Amino acid sequence: MRTFSKSKLLALRQCPKRLWLEVHRPDLREDSAATQASFQVGFQVGDIAQRLYDPEGLGALIDVAADGFDAAFKRSAELLSSTRQPIFEAGFSAGGAMAFADVMLPVQENGSTLWRMVEVKSATSVKDYHRDDLAVQAFVAQNAGVPLQSIALAHIDSSWTYPGDEDYSGLLKENDLTAEAFSRGEEVRAWIAQAQSIDAMPAEPVMETGAHCDTPYSCGFYDYCSRDEPKAEFPIYWLPRFGTAKVRELAELGVNDLSAVADDLLNAKQQRVKAHTLAGTVFFDTEGAAADLAVHSLPAYFLDFETIQFAVPIWKGTRPYQQNTFQFSLHTLSASGQLDHTEFLDISGNDPAEPFINALIAACGVEGPVYVYNAGFEMARINELAIRYPQFSEALLAINARVVDLLPIARERYYHPSQQGSWSIKKVLPAVVPELRYDALDGVQDGGMAMDAFLEAIHPDTSVERKAQIEQQLLAYCKLDTYAMVRLWQVFAGRTDLSL
Ligand code: SF4
Repeated sequence: MRTFSKSKLLALRQCPKRLWLEVHRPDLREDSAATQASFQVGFQVGDIAQRLYDPEGLGALIDVAADGFDAAFKRSAELLSSTRQPIFEAGFSAGGAMAFADVMLPVQENGSTLWRMVEVKSATSVKDYHRDDLAVQAFVAQNAGVPLQSIALAHIDSSWTYPGDEDYSGLLKENDLTAEAFSRGEEVRAWIAQAQSIDAMPAEPVMETGAHCDTPYSCGFYDYCSRDEPKAEFPIYWLPRFGTAKVRELAELGVNDLSAVADDLLNAKQQRVKAHTLAGTVFFDTEGAAADLAVHSLPAYFLDFETIQFAVPIWKGTRPYQQNTFQFSLHTLSASGQLDHTEFLDISGNDPAEPFINALIAACGVEGPVYVYNAGFEMARINELAIRYPQFSEALLAINARVVDLLPIARERYYHPSQQGSWSIKKVLPAVVPELRYDALDGVQDGGMAMDAFLEAIHPDTSVERKAQIEQQLLAYCKLDTYAMVRLWQVFAGRTDLSL
């Protein structure tokens, strides 16, 4: 009989077919970049947790990758009965399942040693699947004979601010889930029995794809499972603000193509998307767009930010997962139609916030609209910087007061079938200005790639040459973002008289 790891049992909780595929056809799994990135964040948070729970470095780390399962279980059992120090990654196997505990902390009670187990997660709150996770941990440890005193889940406290000097106390917030986890043993036993019967099936269970493929994790077997499912030519999820509940409802009725959706189910904008998508025609309310923009005079500024987030903050005064601005691009269009460009990029690895603010205030001048694409993002970053640096608050908030968002104008006045229901600038730009293309850029072509490039650039092992190359790629990418806005503005404003 197979012994199931905790992750296999959690895969079963998501979908029986996933469990079968994980066991019998792991070669078919393709983890998305986001899933792989989340593994990396998990390792990073795990490292910090070891420092927090064992500040003197007296604990032991079980290395299952190096030692193998049997040796890891044996060494864990020995340590649990002999040491009075923390143990990390202790492994247990019992009752048909195995699990590894992030942190085991000894607790002395009535002359004997009990253990407090802590599972560390990079999430910012307790999720239902964490509760299942802890139920499995408690079941396996208790069945393996570990004297477990309690079990807790530690997650990242996103309201905590890093005080600097490697002081990460406060990064993690513990939630005691002992009573709940200890009471779910019978459920876990049933999951293991179910896993055994699914494992024994000669072929994968029949299961259609659906909402469960993304909940709670994005399943790496999606491409495999959906390979023979009929693909809509014009999927209904292209409809703007068409709720997932409605999509699901229609999918259950076998409707997955726009052509089959009745007009009376759609609002005016959704009907417009449907009509122009099916007919392959462009919608452009030239007069409306020009009128929207006519109220704003020149000079005009076109602004875009790039940001980076860290689960474990590296700069004093920042919070976990905060969006830290490290780059901006700004095009300026004068009243006479002259276009200038200013930019800022800090890949030194030091906190870029203050030099960013100084450069931004200097570049934005004091009057004229500041065009952005999706104002919520840039304005929120400016507000955060104003709170963090009150001495610059007045000047920063004055920039926010001048912000004009091009996105709602694009949404209201323009639609090209190639946008496929999206008004992201990456979709709108090639439709409106076909000669400008993000995919022609070298290296960095979207926000996610910009983040990865930034992380590589600030890594101490990155060579000077590579750093210089990344710098050029980031500058070119962000510059295209604001130049794209200039050209969108030109088309929407009807200013073909300007040579931009
Ligand atoms: S893609 Fe969906 S149906 Fe296929 S194994 Fe994963 S969760 Fe199950």
